[in-house]
Amino acid sequence: MPLNLGSRIARGVAVVAALGAGLVAGCAYNETIGRSQLIFVSDAEMTSLASASWTDLKRQEPVSTDPKYADRVKRVANRVIAAAGENPAQWEVQVFKSEQMNAFALPGGKIGVYTGILDIMDNDDQLATVLGHEVAHVELHHSAERYSQTALAQTGLSAAEIFAGGGQNRNAVMGALGLGAQVGYLLPFSRKHELEADRVGLAYMRKAGYNVDEALKFWQKMSAKSNGAPPEFLSTHPSDATRIEQLKQEIAKIKAGRA
Ligand SMILES: [Zn+2]
Repeated sequence: MPLNLGSRIARGVAVVAALGAGLVAGCAYNETIGRSQLIFVSDAEMTSLASASWTDLKRQEPVSTDPKYADRVKRVANRVIAAAGENPAQWEVQVFKSEQMNAFALPGGKIGVYTGILDIMDNDDQLATVLGHEVAHVELHHSAERYSQTALAQTGLSAAEIFAGGGQNRNAVMGALGLGAQVGYLLPFSRKHELEADRVGLAYMRKAGYNVDEALKFWQKMSAKSNGAPPEFLSTHPSDATRIEQLKQEIAKIKAGRA
């Protein structure tokens, strides 16, 4: 871990250098979700940070090569990734052997799915539900946005101050980015991000030719499993009434050809 931390700090320095130079900054309007996003890390930087986390994960978590899981995930992931307008050959998909009912995707095209969640899926459509949701987080730059927010929250500076600082705020920003690298990727997304990923994920699965009705069945099943202590996936992916209600509305819209 200390070795890794060192290399992460090195990457943090690179980000700060880029910030100082004003190379990556901005509050960009995202048409797909109809709102502006404050993002001041580049895609390349997020990909680099995510790549380090991905390598760590593959070292730490047991990987499953059972074709029962791997072939199915690859098959469905390829269709969903293509539906998102990406090239599946550039994405890496990995099944992890774990009881956890969880899945995640990282910037730069890395997808991890746990056997625990695969075991409760009735069909490929339900797998496409989860993959669509995760790919949507990546396509909507949610990690970069969260990362930027974390950095701002931890430094207590506005984006303008950080950019105007020209390196004076370097330590504060580096601390935020260093810590951000440590805690960034598998922290829960906000409610807003979850709802956006649900909505866009449904569009992807539909475009990939999967049955969107299975999305509702799947999330309801996950929700039912949250009696008592919620499974890991639910603690990061709240399946509450609001969410189920939005899914119902989106599915109705999609089927009526209005989305
Ligand atoms: Zn999510």
